[in-house]
Amino acid sequence: MLVNMKQILEEAEKGGYAIGCINTPNVETLRAVIGAAEDLNVPIIIDHAQVHDTLIPIEEIGPKMVEYAKNAKVPVCVHLDHGSDYNFVMRAIRCGFSSIMYDLSALPYEENMAKLKEFTKLAHDLDITVEAELGIMTSTEDDTHGDDTVWDNESIKITFTEPEQAAEFARETGVDALAVCFGTAHGIYSEPPILDIERVVKMREIMPKDTRIVMHGGSGVDNEQVQAAISAGCSKVNYYSYMAKAAAKHIYEELDETKGSAYWHEVQESAYRYMREYAREVLTVFKNGK
Ligand SMILES: [Zn+2]
Repeated sequence: MLVNMKQILEEAEKGGYAIGCINTPNVETLRAVIGAAEDLNVPIIIDHAQVHDTLIPIEEIGPKMVEYAKNAKVPVCVHLDHGSDYNFVMRAIRCGFSSIMYDLSALPYEENMAKLKEFTKLAHDLDITVEAELGIMTSTEDDTHGDDTVWDNESIKITFTEPEQAAEFARETGVDALAVCFGTAHGIYSEPPILDIERVVKMREIMPKDTRIVMHGGSGVDNEQVQAAISAGCSKVNYYSYMAKAAAKHIYEELDETKGSAYWHEVQESAYRYMREYAREVLTVFKNGK
């Protein structure tokens, strides 16, 4: 069933768990992620990152994502991940996406806020939910999703979101979800990340209730800290890099074992099965014992 993220995030926050948001840049990942959500009977957010459009254009993978969402046995939100230019956002809307992340975090604060306020009004009229970002998680778009950019805890600190600013931003714009920085980064970590959970607690306290808190860069963070962030008020957790790396490693090993005699469709199927199991484990962590 295709849904936007409003209701599923509202229920998640009430229930003390989080909804997983996983990039699906190809059909194998799409089947794996939706299959995992169905296995566990939990809602899921699947997303296409603007930076993945060089792998596959949104006009090719987007309608597939929408079709799989409609046919799924669980609520599925089809979301644009880090849409940073207006034309791209419009392309996602034309493809039938039910939710948009309009990421203007690279702009000055006031400009980010003004543009998101205007966009959220338009999106809500179309029954589309909106996510924004505050704080700079990575400096360039190339850093996101599966890239090998390395971050240590000291360099991540300069990106932290100020709780008061997050509250004002949410109040002014009316966004449904806000990605904030409190210790995570995109891509691969150079050392185990240390999250500032107190910052999340503070933000949840002072932000409007209707704006949900989002953690990006969820992959590579230990389960205890992920669950602490969820208990503190994160109701959407973005996850991708480590799953994509693990699936690739699995295929390397398998090809090595079979001495490279496999067919391509067997390789694809094996990656699908591996990711479905992997996603199931990740989504179980996000359930936070519920
Ligand atoms: Zn992100």
